[in-house]
Amino acid sequence: MTAPERPIALRELAAIDVGRLRGVGDRKRESLSAVGIETVLDLLTTYPRRWVDRTNEARVADLTPGEEALVIVTVRSVSKRVGRNRRTIVQGVVGDGTGRMHVVFFNQPWRERQLRPELQVALFGKVDTYQGGLQMANPIVDLIGDRTGRIVPIYPQSEKAQISTWELAGWIDNALERCRPRGLRDPVPNEVRRRLSLIDRERALRQIHHPESISEKEQARRRLAFDELLRVQLALVMRKRALELGSVGFRHTVDGELVRRFHAGLAFALTAAQRRTIAEIDADLAAPHPMHRLLQGDVGSGKTVVAVTALLAAVQGGHQGALMAPTEVLAEQHAVSVSHMLDGLLVPASNLFGERPLAVELLTSRATGTDRRRMMTGLAVGSVDLVIGTHALIQEAVEFHRLGVVVVDEQHRFGVEQRAALRDKAGTAVPDLLVMTATPIPRTAAMTVYGDLDVSVLDELPPGRTPIITRWAGGPLLEASAWAAVRDEAAAGRQAYVVCPLIDESEKLEVASAEETYRRLADGELQGLRLGLLHGRMPPAEKEATMDEFRAGQLDVLVATTVIEVGVDVANATVMVILDADRFGIAQLHQLRGRVGRGVAASQCWLLTSGAIEDGPGPRVEALVASTDGFELAEVDLDLRGEGTLMSSAQKGRSDLRLASLRRDRELVKLARDAAFDIVDADPVLLHHPALLDELHLLLTDEGTEFLTRS
Ligand code: ADP
Ligand code: MG
Repeated sequence: MTAPERPIALRELAAIDVGRLRGVGDRKRESLSAVGIETVLDLLTTYPRRWVDRTNEARVADLTPGEEALVIVTVRSVSKRVGRNRRTIVQGVVGDGTGRMHVVFFNQPWRERQLRPELQVALFGKVDTYQGGLQMANPIVDLIGDRTGRIVPIYPQSEKAQISTWELAGWIDNALERCRPRGLRDPVPNEVRRRLSLIDRERALRQIHHPESISEKEQARRRLAFDELLRVQLALVMRKRALELGSVGFRHTVDGELVRRFHAGLAFALTAAQRRTIAEIDADLAAPHPMHRLLQGDVGSGKTVVAVTALLAAVQGGHQGALMAPTEVLAEQHAVSVSHMLDGLLVPASNLFGERPLAVELLTSRATGTDRRRMMTGLAVGSVDLVIGTHALIQEAVEFHRLGVVVVDEQHRFGVEQRAALRDKAGTAVPDLLVMTATPIPRTAAMTVYGDLDVSVLDELPPGRTPIITRWAGGPLLEASAWAAVRDEAAAGRQAYVVCPLIDESEKLEVASAEETYRRLADGELQGLRLGLLHGRMPPAEKEATMDEFRAGQLDVLVATTVIEVGVDVANATVMVILDADRFGIAQLHQLRGRVGRGVAASQCWLLTSGAIEDGPGPRVEALVASTDGFELAEVDLDLRGEGTLMSSAQKGRSDLRLASLRRDRELVKLARDAAFDIVDADPVLLHHPALLDELHLLLTDEGTEFLTRS
């Protein structure tokens, strides 16, 4: 008697070529390969993109104009013509035995080829009347062939690759059939499945391809989406724990004199959120393992004070701190604001030499020659306490005496590679790392994108701010109001920013456009006001001089490119006008807007758009008008853009998240993350979960697999 065979693991399916399935010959194999389907696993995880629920099916004779309906019909005839404005119009007649109706598609010329006579199609759309009969305009079309069943799965089909949805359905059925004798291995612990009411994997895979009802499909989707999220979370949580356990850090002195002095010297009291966040960071700093923490906070929430507190904790224990910005301009701006904050601060002596001033340096590519050598030496011998620069600080040959705390101010993503570089830079002990994001991202998204970090959130603005009033200046009248607002505020002794259009392709063009805007305003709407110009290509000295003048109130208006996005802090500036605002992303608009509203006076932000007024402001500008809350805007942004943009590395290849969505499955992300912590904390190397460990090798993104391949 032979032992029963073990259930099939996904990894085994990933090793079986689709060519081995019935009906997949060389030509089809090539077509499948062209759409990224090489293995049986690829095929089984090619999920339907929709399910046509035939239980909702209507007959043409019963359709009511004005209502939405699903009909399954046969194509009778199709024709194409070019209408006014060169729009192509595809018209057709379809019927189901109870009646006929017209369909019409605008600007979809390929429909003529798709809808061949005699084809069976499912149409979903709103019913209108046309020439006395019924019509659907631009309905959703699914080719269903002669497939029966209450729910018909519709697969993504590729016309170019010549694969139809029913061919895919057939191969998938064949693959599922061949899995039946051995069954599929389910790596998720029973206890987790029970607790989260998840159906077993094999059932889920069958049900997603062949649901009996829409609720069965939902059950299946939930289970399979959970699997995707659990894999990613396990990888992240394991990496997080491995970093913590595998490296030695510093135990910093968190209750020292230097930090006390710094706080005492501030012109304001810390907000409750700042105190809580500092306490969270202190706990990490005092602990023996290195910190890996993300500090999220809306624009103006006061992240800088928190970051500087962490850096000074390093200094008071005899270590050094580094603050890194994504660009040189931002590093320079940080240097200005941080030096200002630390002005006059003395480092208490731990020896006989008494007190000495805190030594802060700005190290960018501008520092050359002897200046640069002096700084490098200072860092190497330890006479420089804090250094501010770009990411190059850890990538280049900068040597530190005792680097204790690193703060990274990131615009987008301080990647895995940079973090690895930081670890390599460390001597025997790894510095504590605090990553600050200027761009809040939703909490569940942060759990994935920054899944190996702890997260602190500054969710409170300092008191005394009046909310910024944001308006869309649609049309010439409102645009005139925007410029009038600038003149009024200037007359009242306050200041304004004008942000010039974003030109992605070329900084040179962007500069040219900024110069042109500057001239146009100086001779036109803002004639008589004192205008300054700021852009990324100006010599640094000139840039600094202009900023100084603006800070000192010698300029009324600063016309600038997005170089002012982060770090500029002039409380007297109360108006911002953003040109071509519809070209910016939500996060960027929010960052820009954060340059005003920093003082007690009420501030306003005017968003100009380039489109026609009847096109409306567009969803992003609309969101900015509706909300000043960065976290709320981040949710909107995620909804508008989808998660592809967040998981940058996932774009490299096929995403690890096929069904799961960081946007729609917020609750599931949280459940998967909690489950991953439970599992890993009980069993750090998944000794008792070989099936789960095995599955981690299926992860495709670097995020997930980086730690598996690292020794
Ligand atoms: P962020 O970097 O989070 O956008 P900043 O650190 O630049 O914000 O702080 C924004 C402004 O708020 C700065 O002018 C800063 O001095 C001020 N600020 C920070 N914390 C407080 C506080 N607790 N009370 C009052 N003002 C504060
Ligand atoms: Mg800041």
